Amino acid sequence: MDTLNLLLTLAVALVLVLGALSLRLMRLTRELRASEERWKFALEGAGDGVWDWNVPDDTVVFSTRYKAMVGYTDAEIAANQEAWLKRIHPDDRVKVDEDIHAYLEGRTQTYCNEHRVICKDGSIKWVLARGMIVSRLPDGQPLRMIGTHADITDRKDMEERMRHLANYDPLTELPNRSLITDRLRQAVIKARRDKAHLAVMFLDLDKFKPVNDSLGHDMGDLLLKQVASRLLSSVRASDTVARIGGDEFVVLLTTVEQERDAILVAEKILQALKLPFDLVGHRVELSGSIGIAAYPEHGDNEKLLLINADIAMYHAKRAGRNDYQIFAYNMRSEDSGV
Ligand code: GH3
Ligand code: MG
Repeated sequence: MDTLNLLLTLAVALVLVLGALSLRLMRLTRELRASEERWKFALEGAGDGVWDWNVPDDTVVFSTRYKAMVGYTDAEIAANQEAWLKRIHPDDRVKVDEDIHAYLEGRTQTYCNEHRVICKDGSIKWVLARGMIVSRLPDGQPLRMIGTHADITDRKDMEERMRHLANYDPLTELPNRSLITDRLRQAVIKARRDKAHLAVMFLDLDKFKPVNDSLGHDMGDLLLKQVASRLLSSVRASDTVARIGGDEFVVLLTTVEQERDAILVAEKILQALKLPFDLVGHRVELSGSIGIAAYPEHGDNEKLLLINADIAMYHAKRAGRNDYQIFAYNMRSEDSGV
């Protein structure tokens, strides 16, 4: 009887202890869930989408905000990494994958990546993704990674506009002096490595000022735009046409093998300018003077090539305009005034 009582007492005590433990476990789970909800709410409140990735299972919980950011409703995105990866712009996938693995393998301290995502309507948004491992398996392998996606499209658009303003001529949309100098520098480096040739043309329109004076500055602007378009049609897609100021243009030819190739392009440009321009009913005739400098014969860097092409252009002006001149070293010693 005593033994039975003892067993009963032990059983009751065990039930009580287990009950208390399970109550405590339930409370802890509730608290944990509440605290997770709180920080997810805090992150989403900041406007970011939240993702919660179970690394070994490869399941991901995406927040409603995340799905809304890319134009989807809650039920439309599956809960796995594939659903997210396939929405990344194809050009950015490799870098995203590299950055995540660098972080998971401990080669970087944080996961942080800017990439483009394709929204449901086909539009593209830029997101800043950040994430961290919040729990690990006993062997140290990542178990869970949590992160955010912030929409940075406006910032990226602004950066792109600034970059465009810094590198392109607003009137003709051609590359400006800064961009052509940069492209020329790169082209010289490549030509040096490949033991190849390239040519730079400096073009200044002849008697452009009288167009402004007779028809007004707006018509002058229109003429500059039409000149830009004719220049573009006279060169290959791999060449660069730039407006470096006033009525001055530079053409970079990267596919010349001999002097003759550059001469042919110069003749084509002069021919293209010869056709009368129609400025809202006003017929205008124009010509240009071109100077040509070639790498490596006339300079081994972008600055020297531009200076020498400019000197050759002044010689074309002095020789009577509507013509081209190839740079020669004796031009430097002569008076280059027109
Ligand atoms: P030249 O034959 O010797 O080259 O003389 P030009 O009349 O062409 O004059 P020049 O090349 O010395 O000067 C270019 C002129 O282009 C100066 C200025 O009046 C005009 N110009 C410069 N920038 C602009 C612009 O953005 N729009 C317009 N419409 N005119 C410009
Ligand atoms: Mg001029």
